[in-house]
Formats: sequence, structure tokens, C-alpha cells
Amino acid sequence: ESTQLKDIISHAKEYGFVFPSSEIYDGLQAVYDYGQNGVELKNNIKMLWWKCMTQLNQNVVGIDAAIFMHPLTWKASGHIDSFSDPMIDNKDSQKRYRADVLVEEKAAEYEKAGDLEKAQALVKNLARLLEAEDLKGVQELIISENIKCAVSGTTNWTEVRQFNLMFSTQVGSVAEDASTIYLRPETAQGIFVNFLNVQKTGRMKIPFGIAQIGKAFRNEIVARQFTFRMREFEQMEMQFFVRPGTEEEWYENWKQIRLKWHEAMGIPAEKLRFHDHEKLAHYAKAAVDIEFEFPFGFKEVEGIHSRSDFDLSQHQELSRKKQQYFDNDLNEEGKPFGNYVPYVIETSAGADRLFLMTLCNAFTEEEVIEGEATKTRTFLKLHPALAPVKAAIFPLVRKDGLPEKAQQIFDDLKYDFNVIYEERDAIGKRYTRQDLIGTPYCIAVDYETLENNTVTIRDRDTREQQRVPISELSRIIGDAVSY
Ligand code: ATP
Repeated sequence: ESTQLKDIISHAKEYGFVFPSSEIYDGLQAVYDYGQNGVELKNNIKMLWWKCMTQLNQNVVGIDAAIFMHPLTWKASGHIDSFSDPMIDNKDSQKRYRADVLVEEKAAEYEKAGDLEKAQALVKNLARLLEAEDLKGVQELIISENIKCAVSGTTNWTEVRQFNLMFSTQVGSVAEDASTIYLRPETAQGIFVNFLNVQKTGRMKIPFGIAQIGKAFRNEIVARQFTFRMREFEQMEMQFFVRPGTEEEWYENWKQIRLKWHEAMGIPAEKLRFHDHEKLAHYAKAAVDIEFEFPFGFKEVEGIHSRSDFDLSQHQELSRKKQQYFDNDLNEEGKPFGNYVPYVIETSAGADRLFLMTLCNAFTEEEVIEGEATKTRTFLKLHPALAPVKAAIFPLVRKDGLPEKAQQIFDDLKYDFNVIYEERDAIGKRYTRQDLIGTPYCIAVDYETLENNTVTIRDRDTREQQRVPISELSRIIGDAVSY
């Protein structure tokens, strides 16, 4: 892990953003808990996604489907048969690895050493073997490349096997009645199986979309890089149902809309890029990732997929219930085939990855001059709309009626914004604490406040203070947090 990522992980822990799960038992790998500031930041990200999807688009509505679904769902979606990663074990250390990742890391080594040709050949070779489902070939590649286990240092590998990423459990109390069900590995299927429910009850006309935010679970073999790859995580997905033949246009459309959304959240354009998939998932006709430049390189934060009619057709076949839409417009245009299974464009983002992206982007260390000395000031340069706390209100001292006045300002603002009141410690220390959690404004109540009802408001990024009337505070904060 890069030093910057390490700094961010310890910052996240120290200031109440993210804790390792069940930490008192030494944690559980690739599972994390969000703390008092983390939950606010993550909720803000989710809320802004939800608003942009459902509130700004009249033809997109939301649902909240269950995590457990009928087992046939996963047969239909292809997850039982093909949602797997190739894995390999080292016989000496008994450590399990993703075979494809081992080869990719070797290729990265070649690249780093300046041998671009060798790196590219290796990646190509791997893609060809995976495409042909030639697991023996992948194993031979690992052996011929002399790839060593990081723990044992040996090349004593088992064969390569496919490892399904779904978690399963039993439902029903008596063994005979029990049946295997899965924790959903994606939220999308909850939308597909409700397609007609929503379409009919909402009288939705194509093109329209259904959005959902919810937990998903994957038994990731390689689990690392903090909240980038978790075993329990949250997805924000939207399925957009379109008339067959219009999917390319809508795919382009949603690509651009989603990229702009990330930029509006305060991510600089140069830290974002599209990455087209060479190898498509079993359901996809076209797929692109939006990647962000993490401290560990450009990596996927969101996928946009053209899924054709794959999912709905599969559900139609296994459930034996028609999953068709009657397109009145087509009939009016005098075209035949008013009934069809719609095509789908999907936008699929991970809330935890966007959280990590936001944190990495906001984490700022700058040199500041304080008196004679230069110091490093660490702060989170979060978009005010995302910041856990919008403003902190401080009385300069704990006497002479200043606390009461500050408390009154707090009470006036708290209905509209997440604000906090703090009176302990020197004011400089209080500013620092707010910088560390990314609070955009600190409001100080001093003796002048008692005379003319003005306060100072300090900007987190410039550290500049301005004197403003109390009556202006709500508008100033409101303007900054509006999106
Ligand atoms: P990767 O290739 O990184 O495993 P993926 O292509 O399998 O990701 P999708 O199935 O397209 O990912 O899932 C959509 C989004 O869900 C991803 O862009 C990512 O933001 C999020 N996501 C997927 N797996 C995880 C995970 N294990 N932890 C956190 N977020 C995840």
C-alpha cells in the first residue's frame, strides 16, 4: 500500500470515518464499519446520487428490494454458473490467490522495469486463456513465469480452479425443508424482477429507469486496499429500460451524465477517465468503467453496461412469466411488434469506492507559516455538500454570555444543517479539529457579537475570516452546500 493510502486509512480511523469491523477481535478481513463522520459523508454521497437519479429525472424512480431473493434469480442471471474468479493455492503457505491477479502483477513488474512489450504480451496471453476457459493454461503460465508466493517464496502451486463469489446460507429451520439461498452479489436483479411491478403501477413509459441503493456481498479472494474491495459493500445502481435499437444512444448519454456527476462532486476532470472493457461480462454487449486516480493508480469506481435484453429474457424463461412491454408509440408509428423485451443500460457505482475516492481526493497536506515556524496543516477539502458537518459554532470564551449566544445560533441553524457547537479548548485547536473532518465553516462568537449581532466565519480552505451579520449565516451556508 502506498504511503499516502496508509496516511488516509489512519486518518479515517483516527477521526471517526472508518473502523475495522469487530476490531476488538482483531477485525474481520475486508469488512469495515463507518464511524460518526464516515456515516455522514457516505449518506451524503448516497443522497446526492439518489437525488440526481430520481429527483432530476422524471422518468427514473427508486425501489428498495430485499437482499434475499428466490434462488432461481441467480440461475437466470448467470451468477450460479459464471460469477467466479480463477484461484490458485500455494501448497507451502496454504495461501489463496487470484490466478489472474498474480499474472497481472507480474506484468506490472515487467512494465515497471521498462519491458512494455513483455508486459503487454503477458496480459494478452492471460486474456486469451481466460476467454478459452483454459485453467490449465493459466497454471502453466504462472509456473513458466516463475511467479512466487509472497508468503512462502516458493512456486509450489495447485491447479487453478473457479471460485464462485456468492455467499450462500440456508433458509428454513429443519434440514429437509432447508434450501440454499444467496446473499445478493449485486442489487441489479432486485430491479429486474420488479420491472413490470414498477412499470405497471407507476404507468411508466419507455425509456424509463429504476434506481436502487443497497448492500451487496462478494466473497472476494483478494481483499485489500481498504474500502475499495470489501466482502460486504453497498451499490448504487440504475437500470434504464429502452427500446431495442436505441441502446447505443442511451449508453453514450449515460456515460456522459455519470462522468459529469463525479466532476460535480468535486473530483477534478484529470483524475477521472473512461476505460473500455476488453473482456465483457457474461451479460454485457458493451461496458465502460469510470476510473479515478487512487494513490494506487487509476481504478474503477463505476461501471456503465449495455446489458441488452439478457436479464429480462432469462427471467422470462425461468419464471415463465412474460417480461414484455407494450410500446404504444411503436403502434402509433404504424410499426409492428408493439410488444418487446426492453434493452437495458445500467449504471453501477459502489458507495464505498466513491467514499474512498472522495476521501483520497479531499485529503490535503499543506505547508503553513505559523509565527516563525512552518507546519504541515492536514485538512479534508470536501465539497461542502458532502462534508459531514457543515458548520461549527464556537464561543470565543466560556463566559460573559458568549456560550448562550453561540448556542442560540446553533439552535437556529440545526433544523437546516448538520452543525455542531463546541466550547472546549483554545479556538485554534477547535479550528484544527474541524479542518481534520472537513467542516467548511467555523463560526466564532466574540464580544463584538453581543454589540452588533455579527460573527466571524472562517473558510476551511483559505483560513480567512470574514465578519458577517448572524442573519446572513443561513444563506451563506445554504449557498455553499447547494449542489
Ligand atoms: P472489480 O473488477 O473491481 O471487481 P467489478 O467490475 O466486478 O469490479 P461490478 O460488478 O461492475 O464491479 O460492480 C459495480 C460497482 O460496484 C463497481 O464499480 C464498484 O464500485 C462496486 N464494487 C464491486 N465490487 C466491490 C467490492 N468488492 N467492494 C466495494 N465495491 C465494489
